[in-house]
Amino acid sequence: MIRVCCYKGCGVVYGEIEPLSDKKETHGLCPKHYEMSLKKLKSEMQNLWDKTGAFKVLVVEDSTLFRQLLKEKLREQFPSIGIYEARDGEEALQKVEAFRPDLIFMDIRLPEGNGLDLTKKIKAVHPNMIVTILTAYDLPEYREASQQYADYFFSKGSATSENILTLVQSILSTSG
Ligand SMILES: [Zn+2]
Repeated sequence: MIRVCCYKGCGVVYGEIEPLSDKKETHGLCPKHYEMSLKKLKSEMQNLWDKTGAFKVLVVEDSTLFRQLLKEKLREQFPSIGIYEARDGEEALQKVEAFRPDLIFMDIRLPEGNGLDLTKKIKAVHPNMIVTILTAYDLPEYREASQQYADYFFSKGSATSENILTLVQSILSTSG
């Protein structure tokens, strides 16, 4: 199993992690760039928080367990955050229009539709919404599409972090 960091021009080979697919290579982030992405995301969240005193997060995820865990972790960091949830693509689009979230956590595999297509649609109308893809499937085609349309991409196999988004790790490790 080979993992190649796909952060712009990095190309570092890292980890000895079980493959998430039958592909020989996956394209996640090396520990350094994973850490960088988490820090950047956290600082964006902190900026929104400082600016408005409250921000709105939409969690698009069909797993109830995953949504609960993500909510709990977010609340620990930002107690009065507004958290909205959607279980499928249609509900996600409705909630985007109804609540105008600042930040969206987006699963890729949804019962109705695909998180990458959804991200594309949402970004076309609301380019300022921050979209973070969270997936258990670290596939090159997911990562490429994420880089094209979303702001962040985190996958199950990535390095750990003491950061707020240690949540990413803990959540994804329980979502199978
Ligand atoms: Zn790297």
